[in-house]
Amino acid sequence: MNTHTDSIKPRIVVIGVGHLGAIHVKLWTQNAQAVLVGVLDENAERAQAVLSEVGNLDSRVFTSLAEALENADAVSIVTPTSTHFDIATLALSAGKHCFIEKPITTTSLQALELNTLAEQNGCVIHVGHVERFNPALRAFQSSTQHYDFAPLFIEAHRLAQFKPRATDVSVILDLMIHDIDIVLWLVKSRVVQIDANGVAVLTDTPDIANARIRFENGCVANLTASRITQKPMRKMRVFQRDAYVSMDFAEKSVEVFRLMDEEGAGNAMQSSLAGGVPAMMLGNIEAGTRNRAILFEKPIVTDSNAIAAEQQHFLDAIRLGDASATPPATTALEAAEALRVAEIITAQMMG
Ligand code: NAD
Repeated sequence: MNTHTDSIKPRIVVIGVGHLGAIHVKLWTQNAQAVLVGVLDENAERAQAVLSEVGNLDSRVFTSLAEALENADAVSIVTPTSTHFDIATLALSAGKHCFIEKPITTTSLQALELNTLAEQNGCVIHVGHVERFNPALRAFQSSTQHYDFAPLFIEAHRLAQFKPRATDVSVILDLMIHDIDIVLWLVKSRVVQIDANGVAVLTDTPDIANARIRFENGCVANLTASRITQKPMRKMRVFQRDAYVSMDFAEKSVEVFRLMDEEGAGNAMQSSLAGGVPAMMLGNIEAGTRNRAILFEKPIVTDSNAIAAEQQHFLDAIRLGDASATPPATTALEAAEALRVAEIITAQMMG
């Protein structure tokens, strides 16, 4: 394994410095535990402009992938998805750790191949499923320590305005893949059935899609993704026995409603308030013989830059020599499973 000690800073190259790659460049420049040695882009002028904008004097523009890889210990691959597999194959074969933007590749088989190559070459792959680092999701996960988390129904809406970027793949791989990854991670059960529909409106692949995923443990996730929406939205609602949680990934907010006996709700409210978490009783519900109090809590969301957090996890994974040791990061195997589910969804739409 190509591990790095604390004293040696990994040399990073960002490959692909379009919309998201420019953000990787800026954030790597700010990370004191790594050295951004350069960037590579098909468009050399763009590469120079991005470097000039961040004023990074340690970095230069590479003119070929071979030259970039010779000078790197690790790469951020932020090119269009259809190019990830070829670039990552060369990088991993040269023993370079890879931060690969989501979706990892265009097929799950390619993702599994990259995973094998990484293992053979002692490299770490971190996949940029950035929503796992969304402060709202992280606050929600901390809040589940206070009750038995057992989701039964999940509803997700990820709606965006149309942008020509990322249209090399369908809305399933562009947007829905985030929610596929999140629900697989939250539910932790085998997918047993998928029903899906989608329509290609502006591009040649589905631009709006809905998928209903049923898990072996009985949970159902209903995911809607669109890239032709006027009003953007990134929301997820999670329902289970005696609890309902609403998360807004764009607003970075979480609301938790729980049904409890009156005494338990009072105690939980006091303990939330003592911890600085806004909480209040919203009244009672008579359900058969059960008189339940409704407790509302608004877990505190600590704002942070999700991509900077991802980069730090990638560095930690390199140091530890294991991408699975740095949750909530998405490993290549998890990314492959999200892609496999995305492939079934896509096949359902085509069939
Ligand atoms: P973009 O079109 O803005 O940028 C892509 C850049 O890659 C361009 O500058 C292009 O010149 C360059 N490029 C293309 N082929 C190349 C090659 N073979 N070698 C070197 N450079 C090459 O795209 P983007 O929106 O920045 O998206 C890039 C990737 O990031 C995609 O995989 C996309 O799915 C992913 N992405 C992830 C998120 C997220 O939420 N994690 C958000 C946006 C984009």
